[in-house]
Amino acid sequence: MFAERMGRLGTETAFEVLAKARALEAKGRNIVHLEIGEPDFDTPDNIRKAAEEAIWGGLTHYGPSAGLMQAREAICEHFAQDRGVEYTPDEIVLTPGGKPIIFLPIMAIVDHGDEVIYPNPGYPIYESAIEFCGGKAVPLKLDEARDFRFDIAELEEKINPGTKMVIINSPQNPTGGVLEASDLERIAELAIENDAVVLSDEVYSKILYEGEHHSIAALPGMKERTILMDAHSKTYAMTGWRLGYAGMPKAIAEKVTRLNTNVYSHATTFVQIAGIEALKGPQDEVKKMVGIFKERRDAIVDGLNEIKGFSCLKPKGAFYVFPNITGTGVKSQELADTVLNEAGVACLSGTCFGAFGEGYLRFSYANSIENIGEALSRIGKMMS
Ligand code: PLP
Repeated sequence: MFAERMGRLGTETAFEVLAKARALEAKGRNIVHLEIGEPDFDTPDNIRKAAEEAIWGGLTHYGPSAGLMQAREAICEHFAQDRGVEYTPDEIVLTPGGKPIIFLPIMAIVDHGDEVIYPNPGYPIYESAIEFCGGKAVPLKLDEARDFRFDIAELEEKINPGTKMVIINSPQNPTGGVLEASDLERIAELAIENDAVVLSDEVYSKILYEGEHHSIAALPGMKERTILMDAHSKTYAMTGWRLGYAGMPKAIAEKVTRLNTNVYSHATTFVQIAGIEALKGPQDEVKKMVGIFKERRDAIVDGLNEIKGFSCLKPKGAFYVFPNITGTGVKSQELADTVLNEAGVACLSGTCFGAFGEGYLRFSYANSIENIGEALSRIGKMMS
């Protein structure tokens, strides 16, 4: 009954684990949720008020497919100040959440048999979108020994003139790893040499605990071949609002806009207005949230390192930890299931992020320090 392409569509397992955890809760079990990647904070008040005013002000109608002009102008200003990249509004597209701004450019650019290099372990939607669109997904291993950066020699080996796109993500989901400036420079050289587009997923750019975030789009010759994507979801605790955006060459923006028109017309009008307030308004709430995430990171890393068979690096960004669990002698999926069923802690198997995630679990620390402490003590007891 279903189209052949549906067999190539992957998924995001976090939602499935959440459903399993909810089923246990419905039976009366107490579960600590460390599976889902969303800030537990509320959206800041100024953003909520901006949406409310926009609704009452009548901004509830259709708008341009690429996004409201004022929203695209605000994003141009933001990218210029924050990333040092100058865009014009015809190079910006807004979408409902960050996901479509991954999926639609892949759909617009990747043809049957085109190679796309992507991080593995990595955000599962990359592999899913590449394969769905008929591309050849070429994994680039993120290595714990390199603080979860990939080996540039491996990229040199894998990239070739048949490579249509290279996907990078820094700070990274699921490892929390961050690419260094020298990595970006070499990726840029290789992309230019092989005439590949770079999709740079920067949704965690503000959730960074050390150093500064740099975008590959700012490097010479790169704006012309980069899709610089970001979203409001993680930075402003706006996961449910669904707002994503990207800067890209005008020719790509036209195709992505046409896909917008065909699928959902545009991102919700009043949500775009709230998104402008998020970018232009005070950023104190973001700083506060990042400070709290940092305390939680330290607590979860220290706690995991005390558990028998676990060893965990301290990530520089995002709100995930990716402990190595090979010392337990148990496979990742089996351990994730046991941690849920026996200890009552929901987390993800590293393999939810690709084959190179075997030997790891992923915990999201977007939860209170008390709940993190409870989760650690339950897993510690289970493993002792
Ligand atoms: N990119 C990465 C690396 C993510 O981890 C996520 C969400 O988990 C997204 C993109 C998509 O975010 P959104 O909720 O805005 O669609």
